Amino acid sequence: MKRAINIGLHLGLAFAIFGVVRWVSHYRYASNHHGGSEDYKEECQSEGCSGEEVSELYSSYQEECIGEGCSYEEVIELAGGSGSVNAMLNDFQSRGWQVQPCTFIPPQIPAGLNNAATGDNDFVGGWCSQPMVDTLWGDFHMSKENWDNGFGFEDACNVNLPLGRTFNSLALLRLFGTSMPAGSNDWLPWFYPFASNAIDELYGRCGNGQTSGVLATTFTGLQDNRTELYWGFFYGQDVPSRAGTIVHEARHADGGPDHNCSSCSAGSCDSNWGLFGSRTYEVLYVWWLRFAGGGSITSATSGLAQARANTVLATAFCRRPTRGEVWGSSVSNPSAFLSIP
Ligand SMILES: [Zn+2]
Repeated sequence: MKRAINIGLHLGLAFAIFGVVRWVSHYRYASNHHGGSEDYKEECQSEGCSGEEVSELYSSYQEECIGEGCSYEEVIELAGGSGSVNAMLNDFQSRGWQVQPCTFIPPQIPAGLNNAATGDNDFVGGWCSQPMVDTLWGDFHMSKENWDNGFGFEDACNVNLPLGRTFNSLALLRLFGTSMPAGSNDWLPWFYPFASNAIDELYGRCGNGQTSGVLATTFTGLQDNRTELYWGFFYGQDVPSRAGTIVHEARHADGGPDHNCSSCSAGSCDSNWGLFGSRTYEVLYVWWLRFAGGGSITSATSGLAQARANTVLATAFCRRPTRGEVWGSSVSNPSAFLSIP
C-alpha cells in the first residue's frame, strides 16, 4: 500500500494540485508519442513493423507488467486500444517473450479453480440479484471501466471471474447488517459500513499476475483515491480471507498507519497489535466472523476465518501478538501467543 500525502489541505488547493498532476501526466504521454514511441495498432497492424519496433514495444510492456504491478491502462495504451491487446501479446509470445496471462482481454483465469474449497460456491446465491449487485456496486463506488474487458462486468454472477469473487467477499461482509445495533457488543455488523465508507473506489487489476504477493493496494492523498484488487486477491484467497483483505485495505483508506516494519514472513508487516493498523483490523474481522458468525455461515467458512486469523497473527506482525497484549495482563498465560480457537 502507498500513501503519498495525507489530505489535510484546503480542498480548493488540493483540486488545483490534482489538476496540475493530471496535466503533467497527459503531457508525458503526448511527449512519448512525439519521441517516436508508437502503439502496436498504428505501428504494426496498419503499417507492418520491424522486429526492432516490436522489441521496443515489448520493453515498455515488460517495464509495466513483468514483476510487481501491471498498469492495465498502459497496456491498452501501448496496444493502441483494447481491441489490439491480444494481437500484441500473441506477437510477443510468438517471439518467445513472456507475457502475463491476466493482461489478455478477457484475462486468462487460473486453471483448476476449486470454488467449493474457497467458499465461492456458497455465497453467490445470496447476492446474485440485480438489487443486491447494485447495492454492493454502489456502496464501493465501482465503475464499468475498472471491471470490464473480461473482469466480470458483463457477467456479474460468474464466480470464476474477478468481479464475482469480489462480490462474494463484499456480500459476506454485508451478511451481518449495515450498522451496529444500539447497545450491542457484537462488532460483526460494524465492518461493512466501515469498509464501504472508508474505501473510495474499488478497481480490478492484474497486479503481479500471480496468486501470491501483493493482494491489493490503497492509494490516498493527492491522487485518484482508490483500492486496487489484484490477482492474488481474486485467485489466491478464499472468501473470508478476501473479506479480511477488504477490511485491511479499508483501514489504510481510513487513514490508518502504514506498515512499519519488514521482518515478518507475510510481507506488509505491522510492528505490533497495539499499532491498530491494517493487520490488527484484518484479524479482528475474521476473528469476529469466527466468533459471532454463528448459524449464518457454514462451518467450512468459519474454519477458513479461523485459519486466516491465525495465519495473520503468526506471519504478519514483527512482534507476534500475545494473549496479554490483546486481553490485558490479568488473562491466564499472558505471555503465550494469541491463537484464535
Ligand atoms: Zn496493507
